[in-house]
Amino acid sequence: MAGNPPLKLFGVLALQGDFAAHAAAFRELGLPVREVRRVSELDGLAGIIIPGGESTTLLKLMADEAWFEELREFHANGGVVAGTCAGAILLARDVRPRQASLALLDAIVERNAYGRQVDSFEAVVEAPALGGRVAGVFIRAPRFLALWPEVEVLARLDGEPVLVRQGRVVAATFHPELTRDRALHRYVAELAGCLPRALVKGPLRASA
Ligand code: GLN
Repeated sequence: MAGNPPLKLFGVLALQGDFAAHAAAFRELGLPVREVRRVSELDGLAGIIIPGGESTTLLKLMADEAWFEELREFHANGGVVAGTCAGAILLARDVRPRQASLALLDAIVERNAYGRQVDSFEAVVEAPALGGRVAGVFIRAPRFLALWPEVEVLARLDGEPVLVRQGRVVAATFHPELTRDRALHRYVAELAGCLPRALVKGPLRASA
């Protein structure tokens, strides 16, 4: 058949936080984007990103519908689920201090882990998996305290993991969408099959 296949739709959870910046970042890459406010809007997406914001507020808003069940099912059915900052907190298996989470990523995260003196900063992180370096803004950022062996580290800051992947789950402790750097959005879109794979290496494990 002639012509290119249609670009697959990518979703941005638009309940709270800086979802508009994520939507703009995907649109810059030429992808069709849907801002997702109802669980029914997960239908037909190749992937979804949970933005930064405030995880406690997000959790309260997510209580209105069966978000946890539906997002887990979306992932189990082959969808890519990414999260930045508060979104990464929601993805982790365990959160300190303790709060509810989707547990799609085998990691323990600590909220607001950089302390008051440096609670926000911009940094360039070493990301060999993404072709070199990625710029990010850290805003009251969480830290990964522990990662299970099946979690791959894609980027580090001062030796510490700040961007990780487990199968179809990608989590960053920083905000890539607040910079001009689109490497992370490109990576996530490739993983979801929305762009031809150039950055993503290795098999996509069906189990994760
Ligand atoms: N500190 C926030 C939280 O715990 C996350 C901050 C962010 O997303 N920039 O949810």
